[in-house]
Amino acid sequence: MAERAPLPPGSTIGILGGGQLGRMLAIAAKQLGYRCIGYAPPGDNVAASACDDFFDNGWGETAALAAFASKCDVVTWEFENVPLTAVGAIPERMLAPNPRALQIAQDRLNEKRFVEELGATCAPYMRVESDEELTRAIDRIGAPGILKTARDGYDGKGQWRIGSSREAEGVRFPGQTCIYEGLVDFETEFSVILARGYDGSIRIWDSTANTHEGGMLVRSALPAGEIVEAQVEEARAIAKKTAKALGYVGVLTLEFFATRNGPVFNEMAPRVHNSGHWTIEGAATSQFENHIRAICALPLGGTATRFAEIEMRNIVGEQALAAHRILSEAGEPHLHLYGKREARAGRKMGHVTRVSHGISHGKP
Ligand code: AMP
Repeated sequence: MAERAPLPPGSTIGILGGGQLGRMLAIAAKQLGYRCIGYAPPGDNVAASACDDFFDNGWGETAALAAFASKCDVVTWEFENVPLTAVGAIPERMLAPNPRALQIAQDRLNEKRFVEELGATCAPYMRVESDEELTRAIDRIGAPGILKTARDGYDGKGQWRIGSSREAEGVRFPGQTCIYEGLVDFETEFSVILARGYDGSIRIWDSTANTHEGGMLVRSALPAGEIVEAQVEEARAIAKKTAKALGYVGVLTLEFFATRNGPVFNEMAPRVHNSGHWTIEGAATSQFENHIRAICALPLGGTATRFAEIEMRNIVGEQALAAHRILSEAGEPHLHLYGKREARAGRKMGHVTRVSHGISHGKP
């Protein structure tokens, strides 16, 4: 991989996508002396207030994309469903990570095949294009299972659990390419989050145990427990091979199920990840800062965990309205609110991280 000169302070980072991940990336970039310009279609783009400038234009507006790119020195993304046509409007030499990572991660079938070739184990799965193919997939793989849209799903959206073949009769095929996969009987879930630099160096954070409800992450915690600790090396090896095979620069996340038979790959995100928010207070360098360091060709920071116990919880929907109450709780909670205008049910509004040295120092 070509080594690069570090991007000088005052240079401009473009961020595709306007959500909380972009906001936290922009905050980290600012600390390192960079400017940020965001780009996302009109909406509640909470990254905008953390950026120096923001384009609220559609993904199809090539002239706006060109104007955006002309103001940037490097362009990254915070959202893996940025259409490839929009990414294609930006000169490839300006993009980090490599856009091939987006192309693979935008399609569940592609990403499973890609990591399987690198030696990962996946749940049994089949491509499904119609009701008949769904019936065939259930016959072959069995039930329970999950039908997922191959593209555009996130936080449990575009997913249907199917308890039995009979239940499948009530599921209407969504009319787009899907994947049917067997339900994994897992002990816990964890993710491997790594940062890779232009020089090929890799830093990996500790893996938290992740809890999901309705397909959405609600909690990440350390220590992650014996099962994760026993399986994390195998999962890290897959993540490292994936990053290398993609010529990846930046933060990359792979999600796994820890099962009795070892780690089972679930999906990858070519970006910073919700299960890494704890790194802001809990690690030597946060995932956001290391992503910025990587794409700006700066040396990566250490990823060591700084506390014996760490817990990150998402603040969802109307929980945000009373979130300031959290600040009066014991244990110095670190509250992050993303500034979203509408507290819709199921919407990630913020998160809180609690850290502890694992020993009591008496009353605060
Ligand atoms: P995904 O969008 O694929 O990451 O799925 C969101 C969440 O749904 C996962 O983190 C799991 O909690 C659950 N899930 C997804 N696929 C499976 C599966 N094959 N077996 C068991 N649980 C699953």
